[in-house]
Amino acid sequence: MADPSLVSMVKQLRLKRAGVIFDVCGSCGNKCCFQMTMMGSQDLRRLVKEMLLDADLELQVRAGLRERSDELEADLRALEQTAAELQAGGAEKEHAAAMATLRTGIEQWREFLDYVRSDFPLDYDQMLRLLYFSAIRSNTLNAVLALPAGPPTLVRHALGKASFRLASPRRFAPPACLFYLSTVGCVAGEGKPAKCANFFCTGDPNVLGRLREELGFDDFVLSYFRVTDIEGLIAQIQLEWEMGPEFVEPKIVLGADDEEIHRIESVLGEMGGGLRVKRRDEGALRSAAEVESELANLHAPNGLIEIYEAVDGNVLYELALALDQVRLRDQHPSYVLFTRQLHAVPAPHPMWDDSMMAQPLGGLGLYVLDVARPEA
Ligand code: SF4
Ligand code: SF4
Repeated sequence: MADPSLVSMVKQLRLKRAGVIFDVCGSCGNKCCFQMTMMGSQDLRRLVKEMLLDADLELQVRAGLRERSDELEADLRALEQTAAELQAGGAEKEHAAAMATLRTGIEQWREFLDYVRSDFPLDYDQMLRLLYFSAIRSNTLNAVLALPAGPPTLVRHALGKASFRLASPRRFAPPACLFYLSTVGCVAGEGKPAKCANFFCTGDPNVLGRLREELGFDDFVLSYFRVTDIEGLIAQIQLEWEMGPEFVEPKIVLGADDEEIHRIESVLGEMGGGLRVKRRDEGALRSAAEVESELANLHAPNGLIEIYEAVDGNVLYELALALDQVRLRDQHPSYVLFTRQLHAVPAPHPMWDDSMMAQPLGGLGLYVLDVARPEA
């Protein structure tokens, strides 16, 4: 049974967390998003799935890529002008191989730009092509670096809208991630890569340090729950199975009643594999290592549902550590943990300390159930 006061608290805590991130990452200059793109093929699955569940997110990603293409075009012009100037200065004679690589890079850059601007379908196969960009950029800039007059010429032509800046005399600074806009930040929203959502913050100011101070452990855990209703949860589970076993993600669901749990059991049961349902008491809670080894043998179409009356944030944190390792191995267990309640912890998880650089909750599917909204 949905608990409206819990749902409202989760919404407030999510806003509070977003506010801290906005302030701290904003004053750090969003450094994490200036390391080229963090998006890998596994991350792309998460983004594509989120876009299928949220049409506004798809529009946001499309608009973001269009906006980024203006910078890619300015970069292309700077590269073309650089190649023309170097050729006129005789670089072809002494550095024929580097000039040939530069021309190939420019051609690939042009094709990539045309592709980004082509309104290509934002599905997994088509979006994979975006991941080639780091190789195109790196090969092209390596050719520029191999030409003695290359770096200063490119930086001169880049003045204005283009992205090329030297980090040192022989190294270009990485550009912003393809999904980053200076005006709105990350356009991937809830579909951002787990590694971005988990942070890896060694900076000062430090986002995890500030979140510790502002939220405390229990509120931090709650702030990672997403509010949905039973229909939304079922739609998500069905979509993952339709997309393929590599799209299935573990889920932790807070606040479901018996009827709602039974509906999820039926949905997973219909997927055709063996489904185990275990009712557990709190004493049965396991370490991250135990969870990891149990889930390692759980392959689609088989699934596991565990039902607890209550857990605390430490249990979820420990579970999240295990599920983070499972995610890193690109495994996709069909695992759903239901808990009716979440208690306060007597003491925060030992890894929630002041030297923490990353945390495992951002990449995890944590859901709190709200009252189902009638269909419009
Ligand atoms: S997570 Fe840390 S390093 Fe990254 S943008 Fe935020 S404050 Fe900066
Ligand atoms: S995916 Fe989003 S959060 Fe991650 S680096 Fe790119 S813009 Fe930043």
